[in-house]
Amino acid sequence: MKKNIFLLLALTLANFTFAQTRIIAHRGFHATQNSVRNSLSALKNAQDLNVYGSECDINETSDGVLVVAHGPLHGTYHIQQTDFRTLRQQLLQNGEVLPTLDEYLDMAKRKTSTKLIIEIKDHSTPQRETEVVKKVLKAVKQHKLQEHVEYIAFRQHVCDELVALGPKGIKVAYLNGTLSPEYCKGLGYTGIDYSIKVMKKNPQWIQDSHLLGLTVNVWTVNQTEDLQWCVDNGVDFITTDTPEEAIQIAEPKK
Ligand code: MG
Repeated sequence: MKKNIFLLLALTLANFTFAQTRIIAHRGFHATQNSVRNSLSALKNAQDLNVYGSECDINETSDGVLVVAHGPLHGTYHIQQTDFRTLRQQLLQNGEVLPTLDEYLDMAKRKTSTKLIIEIKDHSTPQRETEVVKKVLKAVKQHKLQEHVEYIAFRQHVCDELVALGPKGIKVAYLNGTLSPEYCKGLGYTGIDYSIKVMKKNPQWIQDSHLLGLTVNVWTVNQTEDLQWCVDNGVDFITTDTPEEAIQIAEPKK
């Protein structure tokens, strides 16, 4: 009986703590004003929309420059096997240049109330991934944005290195959908960030995460019924290509 009362209290507290679903613009708010995914304008648009966060993807060029691009290709070039100068000559589809992480962090400083959600992409070896993690952490620190950046990755090694090498309180969520919330907690992650398909198969992971103090982010939620499902089930963050509609569903008072 006592145990049940404790559980009820914990659940109430968890629901209270994680009450509102917040919106993260997937690769920025790109579906507007001649913008494209992972561009500087997409980050600026997300800031202007007042969403919780703007997500971006980080790849390292062959000569060690961190660029914001989903990859693996930029045009016909393989980003991780091509030098920065060559990649930079190939413009994005709307005529913007391929942004570097430094340029992106400069734009992030323009409005720090919109968090930058940095996804570090898989690289060819664990060693290279560790180097990329170190470089990203250093750049974020240099730009004094540690309080305003959160990290995500599909590769467990990348998440582990972020936890091991990052500052105390670093926010790291695992994307791949293969680990239970308990396991993620044990690895020192602060959240799960799983696909809508995985979450609908494992809806109990929402409550499990909250009881463990983990956040729940779901990607990439673009359908109205899925957006509503996330809100109704107490998901903390929705990552979406349609942030305007998501705001209407998650934050109707705004
Ligand atoms: Mg991404």
